Amino acid sequence: MASGNDFDLIVVGGGSGGVRAARMAAGTGARVAIAEEYRYGGTCVIRGCVPKKLLSYAAHFREDFEDAAGFGWTVEGARFDWARLIADKDKEIDRLEGIYERLLKDAGVTSYRGHARLLDTHRVEIGDQVFRAETILIATGGHPIFPPGHGWDLGISSNEAFHLKSLPGRVAVYGGGYIAVEFASIFNGMGAEVTQIYRGPQILRGFDDDVRDTLAGELVTKGIDLRVETMIDRLEKHGDGVRLHLSDGEILEVDVVMAATGRRPNTENLGLAAAGVAVGEKGEIKVDAYSRTSQKNIYAIGDVTDRLALTPVAIQEAMAFVDTVYRGTPRSMDHSDVPTAVFSMPTVSTVGLTELQARQAYGDVDIYRSTFRPLKHTLSGRDEKTMMKLIVDRATQKVVGAHMVGLDAPEIIQGVGIAIKAGATKQIFDATVGIHPTAAEEFVTMREPVAQPVKKAAE
Ligand code: NDP
Repeated sequence: MASGNDFDLIVVGGGSGGVRAARMAAGTGARVAIAEEYRYGGTCVIRGCVPKKLLSYAAHFREDFEDAAGFGWTVEGARFDWARLIADKDKEIDRLEGIYERLLKDAGVTSYRGHARLLDTHRVEIGDQVFRAETILIATGGHPIFPPGHGWDLGISSNEAFHLKSLPGRVAVYGGGYIAVEFASIFNGMGAEVTQIYRGPQILRGFDDDVRDTLAGELVTKGIDLRVETMIDRLEKHGDGVRLHLSDGEILEVDVVMAATGRRPNTENLGLAAAGVAVGEKGEIKVDAYSRTSQKNIYAIGDVTDRLALTPVAIQEAMAFVDTVYRGTPRSMDHSDVPTAVFSMPTVSTVGLTELQARQAYGDVDIYRSTFRPLKHTLSGRDEKTMMKLIVDRATQKVVGAHMVGLDAPEIIQGVGIAIKAGATKQIFDATVGIHPTAAEEFVTMREPVAQPVKKAAE
């Protein structure tokens, strides 16, 4: 290692990617420091995946209690206490943050609390100290952004949604992406009156068309007032709530309005210009396949690079970085066929190509689709459908996409993701015996392709 360095590696940002990289690099014998200005765990643990899923479980109980009646149960006196849920959730997040800190300590990583700024390609200022490192890894994540428009100081983002003092009675959620549908489902499940407002023709742009249509239908069935092709032009204070002026001329009064209109990389005030690190249009750090920036000793991983903003992706990028720089086995992360899920109600999960992408990539494709009422809902009486879909390249019979909307979709698609990653053909799916009675077995029992051509794929 070069002499005169305080550390071999300084990691800026203590989220999922940064912490994993720091620990693993330290495990190879490197002298590693990490700087975090807020809380260890980053978006996923502190104000993302983990607390979101806890709220999502909480929201599901309303339906669970209702469904129980179909199975002979009488549930009396069920009441929901938002403040208790938030307090318990915060306790769990504190516990997880503690685990992250302990893992770093046990791995021999030196932690610094404070904002880090690059002074040049090797020196990093953290608070009032300056350190020099051979290699720098930036893993600062991203933050939610509000749309342009008047009055958004009256709105909240997902960050604040986790800390509301009480469950709002009327909520508007603006956006049609992951966060918008997840929070619309959470608030709706907990009993709030929810309006979801989205500028485009259908929510979840970029997902398979059948997924989008199915989920939108289910959200509406569950009571979410979904307004597509609608914008929020202006917000104004109205009593304790907010008045929304919509692009169709309607005025909507709500207690809370939440923007879920995208996220931006955290690259402000990081000293990137001083270090000569190139950024793109959204402020994202530009990297090559090995997560190397425009400076050869500076790397970046995770949301700050605006590749795939998913925790497990950041973690794999971290592992690839450590293999490349510290284990002498350079490798890039494979960003294809990454399974993903939306924790809406019902859940969505998907891996591989959408129908449109598959048609563009392969030309002729076979589509297998099944829509059914899950066994559970025959007795519960709930009007909730499950939709499953496989996309197969006709020439090779390789399964190139799997999509599901319904109960436990993420738990099911994780396994299908392995098959797709392994290049399984439809014949291998067919040769796999189903587990009965499950919804998952449908993925290995769909025999008849849907008649072609299927309906127009979405943009
Ligand atoms: P997304 O990019 O998924 O969605 C943003 C939404 O806001 C889109 O519907 C977009 O519309 C809309 N929008 C953007 N700008 C404006 C504007 N100016 N006015 C009105 N509407 C606007 O972002 P999210 O914030 O939901 O999530 C960010 C990322 O975080 C996700 O892409 C995902 O990678 C990750 N994530 C993953 C989760 C998971 O794995 N379960 C959960 C949450 C987040 P349009 O479609 O027209 O562009």
